[in-house]
Amino acid sequence: MAQTVMQNQRGITSFQPLDVELRNVFKFFNQELAVHGIDLDIKQGEFFSILGPSGCGKTTTLRLIAGFERADAGKVLIQGKSMTNVPPYRRPVNTVFQSYALFNHLNVWDNIAFGLRLKKLRKSEIENRVQEALKLVKMESLRSRSPSQLSGGQQQRVALARALVNRPAVLLLDEPLGALDLKLRKEMQVELSNLHKDLGLTFVMVTHDQEEALSLSDRIAVMNQGKIEQIGTPSQIYECPQTPFVADFIGETNLFTGEIVEVDSSNIKVATKTGLTIVVNRTEETPTELSKTVVVSVRPEKIQLSLYPPTLPTNYFEGKLNNIMYLGTHVNYVVELTNGIKINVLQPNTFGSLPDQDTLIYVWWAETDSLAL
Ligand code: ATP
Repeated sequence: MAQTVMQNQRGITSFQPLDVELRNVFKFFNQELAVHGIDLDIKQGEFFSILGPSGCGKTTTLRLIAGFERADAGKVLIQGKSMTNVPPYRRPVNTVFQSYALFNHLNVWDNIAFGLRLKKLRKSEIENRVQEALKLVKMESLRSRSPSQLSGGQQQRVALARALVNRPAVLLLDEPLGALDLKLRKEMQVELSNLHKDLGLTFVMVTHDQEEALSLSDRIAVMNQGKIEQIGTPSQIYECPQTPFVADFIGETNLFTGEIVEVDSSNIKVATKTGLTIVVNRTEETPTELSKTVVVSVRPEKIQLSLYPPTLPTNYFEGKLNNIMYLGTHVNYVVELTNGIKINVLQPNTFGSLPDQDTLIYVWWAETDSLAL
């Protein structure tokens, strides 16, 4: 079986089997490229999410793994075996669709048993497996209801049970919580996470909801226009985005385009066309070529506000409060700098009373909180 080499903090290597591999996969619809040379390694037992905006190719990627679409070039492997000539029903995967795709004329029990009956399993085996699946999703008491008599969350659970009853190696989830309202979505996120931990299966989830991907996944692939922009753990994706697209798509951020005008052993200095000079603390990934155009990203929650000029040598700018949005636990401030640039600032709601609009204010942030991409 295909494996990936893992190195722990003590430098000891171990091998982790791969459940899903995509090798330079392309998919065209008519003349349009929906998936553009994707490479992916998904490890056994991982909760892996494919995240990106509408139309970026997430669902097509999932359907290529499921076998509902055929790659025009490249290879899909599941548990080390090429899936090129393997139809969907022979792949060790099951898909949960956003629409649930339940049969309305069958009750909960029969919906879950449907696939097993097609496979002509023994009656007692079907009973045991359906019972087990119902228990997993806590739906035993509603086994006789029809899907139209269930809430959205309950229908979602039946859809999960119907996929899990086949004991797939990999569970594919296409926007599984997309049809639920926010509160139920949060509840189901916890259940999905518990289910993943209890079963130890590989989950591959497609979502456009960055918060959902960040909170549930072991690793995330961020897609844009048919390509993968970055693969990493939630904190790598959030704290160390490698491209302006990832920085902008994952959470809010302030982006400043400028030229590198100075480089020393610990920092680079970036001058923007709008007249700001921003100092960025150097990391291994920081570009250091003089005159190179870079995009500096600063997260709103890393920016501080001060009514007086801060006693700092760098990265503070004067402006006026342009907009204040009260969000309950946090407050979102928009500060318009004297050069007209607007900066987004997110602060915990700890002020007794909020400052008035048009108040003269300073924004500042640490050199370590600016990232050059
Ligand atoms: P969403 O979040 O809106 O579902 P997505 O990221 O899942 O979007 P895909 O459904 O994979 O995106 O679509 C990628 C591109 O391929 C889009 O431009 C879409 O219009 C196109 N596409 C997808 N399926 C087909 C199809 N069957 N025929 C023609 N074009 C298609």
